[in-house]
Amino acid sequence: MGIQVFVLGLLIGSFLNVCIYRIPRDESIVVPGSHCIVCMNKLRAIDLIPVLSYLFLGRKCRFCKTKIGLRYTIVELLTGLVFLLLFNKYGYGIDFTIYIILMSILIVIGFIDYDHMIIPDQLVFVATMIGVLVVLYNKKFPMYIYGTDSWYSPFLGVIIGSGSLLIISLVGMAIYRGQEVMGMGDVKIFIPIGLFLGAKMTAVTLFLSILVGAIISILLIVWGYKSIKSHIPFGPFIVIGTFVSLVWGWDLYDLWYEFVFAM
Ligand SMILES: [Zn+2]
Repeated sequence: MGIQVFVLGLLIGSFLNVCIYRIPRDESIVVPGSHCIVCMNKLRAIDLIPVLSYLFLGRKCRFCKTKIGLRYTIVELLTGLVFLLLFNKYGYGIDFTIYIILMSILIVIGFIDYDHMIIPDQLVFVATMIGVLVVLYNKKFPMYIYGTDSWYSPFLGVIIGSGSLLIISLVGMAIYRGQEVMGMGDVKIFIPIGLFLGAKMTAVTLFLSILVGAIISILLIVWGYKSIKSHIPFGPFIVIGTFVSLVWGWDLYDLWYEFVFAM
């Protein structure tokens, strides 16, 4: 079973690459079919097999010999791995389906934010609409996804996630005189995350995103890759935080709970 899920992840990852490249350029993600972005030659089915095509074509376009970036393969493998770990956690079922949809959209958002420092509104909108469906559907099955039967958990999640970042953003603007320290995209992306994860796991996600973001930013500055003034996109850290929450969130939550009550 695991291998099928991994291959499904590779195939979806291949499509996510198309989304990552085309959405910020306002191109359609359906037409035209996959083509080399340098010579525009249409790729054949054999050129489109995740990972393998990359290895066997010698990492070059078949037509113009332009070098193909390792990035495409990394996105495919990453998506495969994400799907596999979610499958190990949830098995086949509605949770798994819902979370691979969320993570697919988030992987696209994370890489677009990394490349262009923007989180496209249309992706947040699509994720939010699916999140609303999850909330409506979940009413019939309390506890199924959120680990609680309180109906307001997803809405509280939105308030915790988006609300906290909005406050950070406003405070930052006040301190740095109008300079944006936290983009509105980061605030908005927590709307679907709140709806998909519920209050507690959204809080864990927020905590992890800020923690991982702070550690990596400090390392990048210490190692001289970034200066204290450079803008480091926060989106990728939110994506990492969400994924860690989905797979290990309740374990972390229990650890924290025990720790607090042991004091
Ligand atoms: Zn080419």
